[in-house]
Amino acid sequence: MASGSFVKKTLGLEAETSPAPQTSGSGTTFAKKPKLATAKSKKKEIPEGLWTKCPKCGTMVFDKELDENLKVCTHCQHHFPIGSRERIHSLVETCTFEEMDPDLSSVDILNFTGVASYTSKLEDYQRSTGLKDAVVTGVCRIAAHRVALGVMDFSFLGGSMGSVVGEKLTRLIEKATEKGLALIIISTSGGARMYEGMFSLMQMAKTCGALSYHAKARLPYISLLTHPTTAGVMASYASVGDLIIAEPGAMIGFAGPRVIKDTTQAELPAGFQTAEFLLDHGLIDAIVPRRELKARLTEYLNYLAPQKTIGSAAKS
Ligand SMILES: [Zn+2]
Repeated sequence: MASGSFVKKTLGLEAETSPAPQTSGSGTTFAKKPKLATAKSKKKEIPEGLWTKCPKCGTMVFDKELDENLKVCTHCQHHFPIGSRERIHSLVETCTFEEMDPDLSSVDILNFTGVASYTSKLEDYQRSTGLKDAVVTGVCRIAAHRVALGVMDFSFLGGSMGSVVGEKLTRLIEKATEKGLALIIISTSGGARMYEGMFSLMQMAKTCGALSYHAKARLPYISLLTHPTTAGVMASYASVGDLIIAEPGAMIGFAGPRVIKDTTQAELPAGFQTAEFLLDHGLIDAIVPRRELKARLTEYLNYLAPQKTIGSAAKS
């Protein structure tokens, strides 16, 4: 079989390079055209959506393998984006997630129309992602800790923060304060949602206001920054955690590098706006690979909120 395919390949080369077919000396099989058509149809037979090319190392990774590895490349450890539901599933104890405000949905208060209206965009994204907006919030258990957890989803309009994202997170933070719970917010966002103009920008102050009450109650807040966390989200709740951690290679910043370069007229250092660069410069406290996240969060919670474990609550 292997030698057969070799012969076909040789034939293909000869057919291309020599304009006149050479009949002398060669066997009768050489007169036949190589079966290129079968080779083509074989390519088409590979079903789509089985393999994903890693943008960092270029390896084709089997999708099932990628899913089992929490969307981390098995060759170079590149962290692919992960959906909010999968993230929650990977962190939370089974059947302990009580979702808050699952039906809260944005309205087109500015009657925004660009290439498409905001209303139709919302409908499209709700249909394609199965989400109502760019964040999922709820109270759950991680190891022995009852925590308030908010997870953003980049697949919904770039994880942009509109009034619903701000409101859901504010309600989550207020619930954590009321119930005396530690808070974890996992961010990924392109920033404030332009379709809601000033109403988006107001969410920055609102979420931070709620967080200051949470801090006053001496409750811990862990902020996890994932690729990418930028603009209005980075400039508000994502950057004010008691502990700020990030995933490897995540892009983190306020404005994009091109804008900063144009404004400051200065050359930017290598690796600017990556998690690793920011760890070196003291903006974040740790870089945690996705597969270690649950264990590390548990460790941090044991330290920051030892009295809040389920076991000790039952004893008291
Ligand atoms: Zn890779």
